[in-house]
Amino acid sequence: MKLIFEKSVSGRQGFKLPVSDVPVQAKIADRFLRKAEAVLPEVSELDVVRHFTQLSQLNFSVDANFYPLGSCTMKYNPKFTEKAAGMPGFAELHPLLPQLKGGDRYVQGALEVLYDTEKWLCEITGMKAMTMQPLAGAHGELTGIMLLAAYHQAKGNKKKYIIIPDSAHGTNPASAAVAGYEIISVPSDKNGGMDIDKLKAVLTDEVAGLMMTCPDTHGVFNSQVSEIARLIHSVDGIMYYDGANLNATMGRCRPGDVGFDVVHLNLHKTFGTPHGGGGPGSGPVGVGEKLEKFLPISRVLKRADNTFVLDYNYPDSIGYIASFYGNFAIILRAYAYMLLLGGDGLKATSDHAVLNANYILTRLKKYYQVAFDRICMHDCLFSASKQTERGVHAIDIAKFLIDQRIHPPTVYFPLTVKEAIMIEPTETESKETMDVFIEAMIKADELSKSDPHVFHAMPVTMPISRPDETKAAREMNVNFFAPRA
Ligand SMILES: *Cc1c(COP(=O)(O)O)cnc(C)c1O
Repeated sequence: MKLIFEKSVSGRQGFKLPVSDVPVQAKIADRFLRKAEAVLPEVSELDVVRHFTQLSQLNFSVDANFYPLGSCTMKYNPKFTEKAAGMPGFAELHPLLPQLKGGDRYVQGALEVLYDTEKWLCEITGMKAMTMQPLAGAHGELTGIMLLAAYHQAKGNKKKYIIIPDSAHGTNPASAAVAGYEIISVPSDKNGGMDIDKLKAVLTDEVAGLMMTCPDTHGVFNSQVSEIARLIHSVDGIMYYDGANLNATMGRCRPGDVGFDVVHLNLHKTFGTPHGGGGPGSGPVGVGEKLEKFLPISRVLKRADNTFVLDYNYPDSIGYIASFYGNFAIILRAYAYMLLLGGDGLKATSDHAVLNANYILTRLKKYYQVAFDRICMHDCLFSASKQTERGVHAIDIAKFLIDQRIHPPTVYFPLTVKEAIMIEPTETESKETMDVFIEAMIKADELSKSDPHVFHAMPVTMPISRPDETKAAREMNVNFFAPRA
């Protein structure tokens, strides 16, 4: 098909797409073929810029608004790390460039980044080795469970079950099921931690391992974690650490030191790399001694002459888990982030994340029912149960916040708390920003007393108000704004 550039009727220049005249035509059903020339709209550059700028402003983003989504660590994206990722020496690399050929050292710097990032993340988690390949947290979980399965297979262990607390993120049971295990769910106790007696009751020789998020989505660090690890290890089970909430403990507590054998991290949550819109993410997986030989290939080695090579020679490896080396530009941002902050900076990050969550918890607990009345970690968890008695549910409060230009916190998760509102401010928000949020939440509570009905029309400032979310997910209409056929 040719693109014809010609004078349009108005005399201004415009594009016209002609009726198709190429042989492919034969393969396309007649009803799909254009019968008349399609004239593309003629608009000025300024109109195009305004159109797309206005569209982009309909999106919420961390760069523009407070984004206290719990369980997701929507932290800032430092501009410094974006700059690092844009450096031509990295951005213009091709994954098939030679590792080391004569004087060509094109990819040596990139391999060094992979090598150092692995080292530093091992230091942070107390793991022995790591693969940087997995492309998201959930992908890391699947990788980790495959490593665990390889371990049991190599030992001839007959294992069937993975134990997962009921407060876990949905990807945990999903990953374990995809890897072929049956799930045993263990309830939380009244303090929000895993009920250890209920755990003992389900522990058998057929348990392959336990997946735990620490601190968990309740914002609780389970102080019995070493005892839980002892129990799981007593049946030769593997302790899996879901590191999505590492933002609360980084630099303070290492999963490897409290009994975990395998860890996934979410670089797009804890290490300041972009998050949202479904990726690209990065979910490196670290392992201790027991699982090291099963790690995916390739792995980066440093040689005596300080050059780096990719090593494929691991006969027990589970093989490839992603093409090439993972989301390299995301890993590079995490590397730059760690360089920027240093060890003390990473530690301060966790301290401030916890402090900020507790500030919100303390100020809002007069107005909202707290789920667990104790000091929280990275997020604080409320229930809108009092407001629900007045006819205002968690979803109504979320819609109210949208009209205040604040991204709603996570609502209705974790499933263990009715009308849950889970708030995670992260370390980078100022007291002023958190105060604006807190005042909005207090206003929502007051409004639920004085005028509960107004909530049901909210949001009023958005082009779409209250879509049927289930229907939208099942019957996706991506041409929402286009005329329907
Ligand atoms: C986000 C999250 C995951 C999944 O990570 P993705 O990168 O979104 O695939 C797993 N567990 C917890 C607790 C999470 O918050």
